[in-house]
Formats: sequence, structure tokens, C-alpha cells
Amino acid sequence: MSKLNIAIIGAGIGGMSAALGLAQSGFKVSVFEQAPELSEVGAGLTITPNATKGLNYLNLGEGIKSVGMAHTNQGVRHYETGEVIVPLERGEKMMQKYGAYQFQAHRADVHNLFIGAMNAYPDSQVYVNHKLTGLVERNGHVELTFNDKDAYEFDFVIGADGNRSTVRSIIIGDDDPEFAGYVAWRGLVPTAELSEEDFDECGSSAFIAPGRVFARYLVRNGELYNYAAFLVTDEWAEEGWAIPSDIEIVSEIFSDYNNQVKNIIAATPKDELFKWGIFARAPSDNWSSEYSTLLGDAAHPLEPFMGQGASMAIEDGVVISRIIADSGSQKEIVDRYQKARIERAHFVTENSKKAGMRFTGKTPDDYSKEDHKNEEELGLFYYDPSTVEI
Ligand SMILES: Cc1cc2nc3c(=O)[nH]c(=O)nc-3n(C[C@H](O)[C@H](O)[C@H](O)COP(=O)(O)OP(=O)(O)OC[C@H]3O[C@@H](n4cnc5c(N)ncnc54)[C@H](O)[C@@H]3O)c2cc1C
Repeated sequence: MSKLNIAIIGAGIGGMSAALGLAQSGFKVSVFEQAPELSEVGAGLTITPNATKGLNYLNLGEGIKSVGMAHTNQGVRHYETGEVIVPLERGEKMMQKYGAYQFQAHRADVHNLFIGAMNAYPDSQVYVNHKLTGLVERNGHVELTFNDKDAYEFDFVIGADGNRSTVRSIIIGDDDPEFAGYVAWRGLVPTAELSEEDFDECGSSAFIAPGRVFARYLVRNGELYNYAAFLVTDEWAEEGWAIPSDIEIVSEIFSDYNNQVKNIIAATPKDELFKWGIFARAPSDNWSSEYSTLLGDAAHPLEPFMGQGASMAIEDGVVISRIIADSGSQKEIVDRYQKARIERAHFVTENSKKAGMRFTGKTPDDYSKEDHKNEEELGLFYYDPSTVEI
């Protein structure tokens, strides 16, 4: 089969992983992004060893080392006392046990690695200001319409357009994601504003309380604390990932937390605190139509309690790029991709949900090492998207 002409909808971490994998295999790829420029929200993300192996495959191994922090100590901690209930060793242990580090980084820094790497493939392009509005499959091709006017034709389409995916609604037609029962706030706090008591050897920590979690880690060589603060709640009416919020509200909700957490919240730059609702879907056994498929949040939005959203999107991107490079037809691509990825995605979706319930469901005094069955304990770090059977 001659090389397929491929379109990717969405230039997030997942879409860019697939684009880079395909470009490196000699494909001409067109990535369409609705935003007017290529940028990422101000927040951190975690790349666990399973995804670092994917970045190595994409030749971004040195890049992630230069922008990410590989904290040695991570922990599940008591919200009041700060006591480490479940110590988790990361750092060198990850390299020794899984052959790759875990990194935490600023999202924009990771995104920039992808954008820089794509520049080496001038045949492939990322088009901004292109919001997908239509997708029609006919006669072995897919016709895409953007901004309700421009139309282009491709052999195969990858929908990497996030949790509220337009591609998904057209090719699978299922309902909108449902509110998962959490509101979250995120902030990036310059550490120069903080005092000594606001740091300790646990570079990455999740402080748990009944109905709440405050997760924080250092990024950008320790210049910034990234945090995400979660509250269990019944109601959420607003749309979006970047709704401005007030520091006073978050300070009040976390007022019984330890001083470190309270100081970090209080030091959030004004106008830079955002909230969003966590939305989820029941796992689906089909992500594809004849000539189109999905990846990342479009295929399997995750509740964020195992830090696997970006990592799973990278895994998807690497696996689908390998499969496309090795397949003889669109049908073969779809069949092999779903076989390779759906079972793992279901497992991570279900266990991310359970992790949130475990963190928020009881008092931390009752949370034990035995209760803790998260990303490493479940064996997720052994996976290597660059070598897994396809
Ligand atoms: C604040 C925040 C913090 C997070 N922290 C973590 C973390 O610590 N660890 C972790 O693993 N995960 C984290 N996640 C989740 C993680 O970022 C996502 O799971 C991951 O980025 C999925 O990537 P994606 O490429 O599938 O989707 P997205 O990153 O959502 O990218 C989708 C892209 O598609 C574009 N798009 C959407 N619709 C259209 C359209 N119609 N036409 C064209 N383009 C379109 C969007 O503009 C966007 O650029 C976080 C998410 C948020 C919001």
C-alpha cells in the first residue's frame, strides 16, 4: 500500500505524539488545531516511565530530561499533619526497575518539545485556526470540513481532539461525557514567594482528606509549584478547563490542611487560579469507523487520580503510529489499534476512578499501604509502547 495521507485533529500531547511518530516513519501528516496558536494551559503534567519509553521512541528522551524533574520521593500524605502515609520511591529506582524515569514538567515545556521536533519534517504541517466541523467517509476517503467552510480529503483520520471530541461524536455518536463528581482548581506558584517550611524531601505529594485531595509537585527546576486541588461535590454547571476562580474560595475549602498546603494556595498569583469540572465516560469497546479512529482523551477520558492522562495519550500516539507504518489497509489499522489499546485503556479508566474514590472516601488515618493500588502497584510502568506487541 502506498503511504496513506493522514490527518490528525487536535495538536495536544496525544495528537502530537502520533504526528511525530508518523513523520519519523516517512508519512506526510497534517495536524489541525482549533486554537489560534500552539500553546498549552499553564499547568504541570506527569510522564510516568511507560510514557517516557514512548518519548524515547519519538527521540524526545533528551528533551524531556532537560525540561522535566525526576523527583526521588513521592507520597500519599495526611492532610493535617503532612505525615507520609504511603512513601513511593521514584527517581533512579524507576530507571533501574522500568528502564525509564518518571518526570513532572510544565505542560507548555513538553508541548514545545513536540513542536520543535516536528520542524524537522517540512512535509508535515500543523495548521492552527482549524476547528473541525464535519467529517464524511466516502469511497475510501475521509472528507473533513473546518470552520464550516474549508474542506480537505484524507485516507485516514485520527481524532485527538480531547474530552469533548467532535470526531468522536461524528464517528461513534455517543453522548457527552458526564460529570464525575469532582471540581478541581489548579495553580502554578513561583517558589521564590514561599519559605523553607513549604518544601520537603517529598518532591511530589498528594495530601488526602475525606472529600478532598491536594496534589502538588515542583516543576521547571524547582521554580514553580504546580498544584491541583480536588473537591468532591454533586454539582457542576460550567464548561471549560480554565474558568477563573478566587484564592479565598480554595483557601476556605482547604483551611484545615497543613501550613505548607495553605501557604502554597495563598501564594497563587492573583488571576492565575483556574477551576474545572472532571468529566468522564463509561469505557467504550469501539473507538473507530471505517477510516477514522480516536486517541487520548477523545478515546478514553481519565479521572486524574493516577496521573495517566498525558501518559496514555503518548502511549496511544506511539502505538498507532507503529501500526499505521506496518499495516496494509485502513481496516487492518483500526483492528490492530483497538486490539492493542482498548483493554489497557479500560483498565486505566476504571482504576483511575477507583483511585479517586480511595483518596477521598475515608479518613487518611484509615488509608494504608495495602489500600494503595495505583499506577505503579497495578504494573502500568512495565508497559513499553515502542515494543508492545502490535
Ligand atoms: C489542568 C490539567 C492538568 C492535568 N494534569 C495532568 C497530569 O498531571 N498528568 C496527566 O497525565 N494528565 C494530566 N491532565 C490530563 C492530560 O492533560 C490529558 O489527559 C492529556 O493532555 C490528553 O491529551 P489529548 O491530546 O488527548 O487531549 P488534549 O490535551 O485535550 O488536546 C486536544 C486538542 O484538540 C483540540 N481540539 C478540540 N476540538 C477540536 C476541533 N473540533 N478541531 C480542531 N482541534 C480541536 C484542542 O484545542 C486541544 O489542543 C491534566 C489536564 C488538565 C486540564
